[in-house]
Amino acid sequence: MNHSLNQMLNALELQGLESGASTGRQTLNAGGALLESRSPVDGALIGSVTQASHADYEQVMAAAVTAFEEWRTVPAPRRGELVRLLGEEFRRLKEPLGQLVSYEMGKSLQEGLGEVQEIIDICDFAVGLSRQLYGLTMHSERPGHRMYEQWHPLGVVGVISAFNFPVAVWSWNTMIAWVCGNACVWKPSEKTPLTALACQKITARVMEAFGAPEGLSGLVVGDARVGEWLSQDTRVPLVSATGSTRMGKAVATAVAGRLGRSLLELGGNNAIIVAADADLKLATIGAVFGAVGTAGQRCTTTRRLIIHESVYNEMTRSLVAAYGQLRIGDPLDSANHVGPLIDLQAVQAYNQAIEKAKEQGGRILVEGGVFSGTGFESGCYVKPCVIEIAADAPIVMHETFAPILYVHSYSDPKTAIQIQNSVPQGLSSAMFTRNLLEAEQFLSAAGSDCGIANINIGTFGSEPHMPFGGFSASGNGTREPGVEALDVYSETKVISILVRGNEVT
Ligand code: NAD
Repeated sequence: MNHSLNQMLNALELQGLESGASTGRQTLNAGGALLESRSPVDGALIGSVTQASHADYEQVMAAAVTAFEEWRTVPAPRRGELVRLLGEEFRRLKEPLGQLVSYEMGKSLQEGLGEVQEIIDICDFAVGLSRQLYGLTMHSERPGHRMYEQWHPLGVVGVISAFNFPVAVWSWNTMIAWVCGNACVWKPSEKTPLTALACQKITARVMEAFGAPEGLSGLVVGDARVGEWLSQDTRVPLVSATGSTRMGKAVATAVAGRLGRSLLELGGNNAIIVAADADLKLATIGAVFGAVGTAGQRCTTTRRLIIHESVYNEMTRSLVAAYGQLRIGDPLDSANHVGPLIDLQAVQAYNQAIEKAKEQGGRILVEGGVFSGTGFESGCYVKPCVIEIAADAPIVMHETFAPILYVHSYSDPKTAIQIQNSVPQGLSSAMFTRNLLEAEQFLSAAGSDCGIANINIGTFGSEPHMPFGGFSASGNGTREPGVEALDVYSETKVISILVRGNEVT
């Protein structure tokens, strides 16, 4: 690891060996197995973390329950002040944290910094929300009664996050949850434990200076088992889980079994429809960046391209030419467009998907492959590939978390929407067209079945005040950020008071 990476770790107060359990400022002597964090960029060991044992989990949860009892009584605008200070500290440490996100996860430096910017933005947004915990006042049908509702916090919110947005997703949940008066316990991805530890240390420092109760921000690093403990824990009224559909089903089942709430942000299988009159240059840019950005490891990655038959040849030619320009390599070098996959398991899933696509009649338009040799020592760099295949081929129904783009053609607009909706997932969708009626059809209730529908832009993109989320196998429709989020992290208490008429003396 070079000098600047060491500087980055120092700036974030990270040592070579860290404990993966803490109640905030207090770090526990975590008793679980050692977890090594290796960078997919160059295969180097960045640091090691001891995972949380069940006893550590219990200690973190107990501290969170106690912290909640105090935090819920703090006025909401004051809670917002804590989040404002957190935003300031993340602003100060944007550079080293963004570098660590890139180096540990493998996304470009620009995207790593962008993720930290998302933390900063959600803090700004949450501060505003801290002064908007409104509620309705209603006229009662009963004489002399006053009736109104008030939003109250839930308790301890469990946050389970995925490797591909190792810090932004945590902040989308926690900043709003804290403003609403909850305590949080975070189980980050075991593939990106160091970015989680860096966030935890920053947060703990700010919370201590503010005088927030210890336990308000708990961290438990570990594998799926730790996620299961959170899902089954009756002290956790809300579990927010981001990850694969397989994980979401397991969490949903466990949480529902104890009548808890879950917020699920799961896998996508997103398509772009390229209409007959589309601006093909624009569509090519949207498709390429949507398919290869973050090496195809975004929930909103473009995985399917549905092209009108009249422009099919021109569009695929344009696509193949654009793929020919892509530079694959170290994501910290801004000259490269595509970095590595997260690990060798992901490379294996990529290879298997290409093989299956070929078996299922796929025709390769842009050949895939794994890079080796100098600059590719981690073994995680793969070539973005494009495969022409039947829209109903079984492999097309699956989200393979890698840069593989499936291409289909269609003849009438209704069929395009049917193809777009034919997969189990329903996260993001897009159409490139200049035809207003076709666009409106796509956006209507009879159109795209996704939580996000874009016109003339790709399938990716979110903003802190945008209620991001998907339907069907992509989630349960509950939204993370946005004003709607207040409802998710709070519960409404309806209050009626008998005022005893007008007998003022
Ligand atoms: P993953 O499902 O393997 O793991 C996600 C998290 O869930 C990890 O922290 C993991 O330890 C935990 N986990 C796994 N099984 C669990 C179980 N049975 N109970 C409780 N916790 C469990 O996902 P990943 O590989 O880290 O991330 C990629 C996936 O996440 C993709 O499917 C991607 O589309 C999805 N994702 C979705 C969104 C969204 O907002 N919709 C955002 C980011 C990622």
